[in-house]
Amino acid sequence: MKWIEDELRKLEEQSLTRSLQTNAPAPGRQGYVQRGQQTLLDLSSNDYLGLARHPAIAAAMNRALLAEGAGSGASRLVAGNRPPYGRLEEALAVWQQSEAALVFANGYMANLGVIQALAGRGDAVLSDRLNHASIVDGIGLSRAAHARYRHNDMEHLRQLLHKHRDARRRLIVTDAVYSMDGDQAPLAELVALKQEYGAILMVDEAHSGGVYGARGEGLCHALGLQSGVDVHVGTFSKAFGVYGAYVCGSRTLIRWLIQKARPLIYSTALPPSVIAGIAEALNLVQTERWRRERLAASSRQFRLSLHRAGLQVGPGDSPIVPVVVGDNATALRFRSALEAEGIAAAAVRPPTVPDGTARIRFSLSAAHTPEDLADAARRIERAALRLGVPAR
Ligand code: PMP
Repeated sequence: MKWIEDELRKLEEQSLTRSLQTNAPAPGRQGYVQRGQQTLLDLSSNDYLGLARHPAIAAAMNRALLAEGAGSGASRLVAGNRPPYGRLEEALAVWQQSEAALVFANGYMANLGVIQALAGRGDAVLSDRLNHASIVDGIGLSRAAHARYRHNDMEHLRQLLHKHRDARRRLIVTDAVYSMDGDQAPLAELVALKQEYGAILMVDEAHSGGVYGARGEGLCHALGLQSGVDVHVGTFSKAFGVYGAYVCGSRTLIRWLIQKARPLIYSTALPPSVIAGIAEALNLVQTERWRRERLAASSRQFRLSLHRAGLQVGPGDSPIVPVVVGDNATALRFRSALEAEGIAAAAVRPPTVPDGTARIRFSLSAAHTPEDLADAARRIERAALRLGVPAR
């Protein structure tokens, strides 16, 4: 095992080692975490709507836990398909205005399962270069040809669709909002291209489900494009504040996934308490519109404040606000300086992002007040100035 030590040393020399930090929810303070003795404003979680600590969700989970017990006991195809699953999937299909829905254990497994079920040898999966790792891994599992197009470059996608015109099938996959950049995919153009080339279009709404749309349906709905998308994937671990994931689409698609999606077939069903928590969160996501509105306003204001402070923030209007600093060591020093200022934020480095684009990724939540964020922007500016973080 000495080779592992050698490899770890190499990672360390490049400021690329990762470690597990312990974060506890700060008692009585939404949007804050406790790290050791320090209470930090949490700009690192994906709890976009501030639902992760919602008492109604916790109560629903608690009731289900006491009534049904801890585990579901088996995969859904064997004996784990408890009644709340079907009810939740009906509610999800109504919410997404789709024929059917299927719950997966998490977003990672949903992407793995869907891509591997829809593509195989002889097919081509066309995927944006900045798509999430779970999409990349799903393509690997599928054994289809992996055709990566330059980020949001529709001309490049067109060339690749042309190049793969003789493939048995073509599947285009994209994040709706990119997880490390916070910008949006050109969904209208993707729908047009998939129609022109007779491809299937799959959109991962992990960071946009709950965040966009009148009832939090996601970016495809907000743009009126839902009927042009064949497969909608989203997670319950971010805006929903719980855990799990959904796939929505036609009845045929969902029936096919039940036959073929390995992560669904060969893994134990989510615990009943988690399903109950998701069901409660789905109500709140749809009805508590103020959370989305507050998040949208904070995202706009926070980007503007950082921009005015001279920092290079990524484009878009999402709650994901990256500040690219370039090299890995600077990203780590920036993270420490932010922590000293009372802010928890993620330092994202390769291979999660391309080489030379290490960054701090701020993510906002409806749990934050405008005052929290205005104060944070000032402290971020101070930390950046002290470090000489590259300005625009
Ligand atoms: N897709 C995207 C775009 C993501 O960012 C993530 C989570 N980081 C996932 C899928 C995986 O979702 P989950 O955390 O539910 O596994």
